[in-house]
Amino acid sequence: MASGGRKRKLIVQKYGGTSVGDISRMQNVARRALAAQRAGNDVVLVVSAMSGETNRLLKLINDITPGASEREQDVVLATGEQVSVGLVAIAIQAAGGKATSVLGHQCRILTDSTHSKARIQQIDGTRLIDAMKQGHIAVVAGFQGVDEHGNITTLGRGGSDTTAVAAALEADACEIYTDVDGVYTTDPNVAPAARKLDRISYEEMLELASLGAKVLQIRSVEFAMKYRVPLWVKSSFTDDPGTLVCEEDASMEDLVVSGIALDRNEARISIRNVPDQPGIAAQIFGALDEKAIVVDLIVQNPPIDGKSDLTFTVGKTDLAKATEVVKKLSKTIGSGEISTDQDIAKVSIVGVGMRNHSGVAARMFRTLSDERINIMAISTSEIRVSCVISSKYAELAVRSLHTEFGLDATAKKPARKAK
Ligand code: ADP
Ligand code: ASP
Ligand code: MG
Repeated sequence: MASGGRKRKLIVQKYGGTSVGDISRMQNVARRALAAQRAGNDVVLVVSAMSGETNRLLKLINDITPGASEREQDVVLATGEQVSVGLVAIAIQAAGGKATSVLGHQCRILTDSTHSKARIQQIDGTRLIDAMKQGHIAVVAGFQGVDEHGNITTLGRGGSDTTAVAAALEADACEIYTDVDGVYTTDPNVAPAARKLDRISYEEMLELASLGAKVLQIRSVEFAMKYRVPLWVKSSFTDDPGTLVCEEDASMEDLVVSGIALDRNEARISIRNVPDQPGIAAQIFGALDEKAIVVDLIVQNPPIDGKSDLTFTVGKTDLAKATEVVKKLSKTIGSGEISTDQDIAKVSIVGVGMRNHSGVAARMFRTLSDERINIMAISTSEIRVSCVISSKYAELAVRSLHTEFGLDATAKKPARKAK
């Protein structure tokens, strides 16, 4: 959003579903926003639907048909945020302040036309700037936008985070208020020993977000990293300073592992006896790509008698579609039995310190093996190691790795890399 020649500082504050979950919480948001305004700032609020509302709307849609048109789904889903912005604006007015609610198409938040996972292309901030010039707090609906044809679009689950960052490209601060007081070494609701981080690099946050830590939507981190927007994650219920997501600096590399992520949203597909010939993998993954199915981990066993077994993971919601594609193809390529498993989890360790520290993966595998947890698939990047395991061991794996890498809140010192 352009600055419009303002002199006051501009703060974008985003409040998630739990933070606007009932009227008293909305009044709390109103108080916080007014305090920020009184401190001399122009304030843009971005709010989500009340907690549970997006799921409720999705259920209504699915009660009619599981295959509803994505355009109409977006029309329904966008209403959750419409209710929230209206109510929060009313709460601010009732507290004696001035506020104007602004919907995605009024802003206007222009997106592409990929319904249910649209990408923001541009935000015209004129309306927000005009509101702020008149002393109003602009209350913007998160998660929703409009495409060039005037259709309502939504940005994918957790999309209000991305609305906030996109609105904050030229802001002085972008604060994401949620139900935990910052980014933790792992989900504090899974591992009670999780420790809050004061700072985390964009790259690490990007890995954690893409590996299932839903505290920030991955696209919001991509945006923040690309445009170098410092991002604060804070609690809407406490005054804790929270976590700053920012550029990496040398001290961050002291920590070998800074976070552990758990993703239960993937499923495994295995195909036995796949002919070991050039072009077969291209056919299989090409066919999946044609159906817009995103494949994550891939493992191919060494061939025996010209045939090998192939295992890969896809999102649980794509499992039925992917199985159908593979079944059809197996007749053409002459492969064997197909099996699927939904009871899997992907546990990942993340840290920029891994770049110049060896043996981290081996330490992860040893920790899992000490707990007698079998690893089904592995993938790595420069700053991440992920293992697919049985979902029943997911929490045990997170807790053991958390302890092994010195991340527990009770640990005296975090694991330092060897000098
Ligand atoms: P909001 O509705 O405010 O957008 P979300 O539910 O989307 O909130 O995200 C906050 C949740 O993210 C927390 O309640 C927590 O369970 C989960 N979470 C997962 N991983 C982490 C992590 N590493 N640090 C903090 N929270 C995490
Ligand atoms: N209401 C949407 C969701 O539940 C967007 C958001 O909360 O960020 O995913
Ligand atoms: Mg969220």
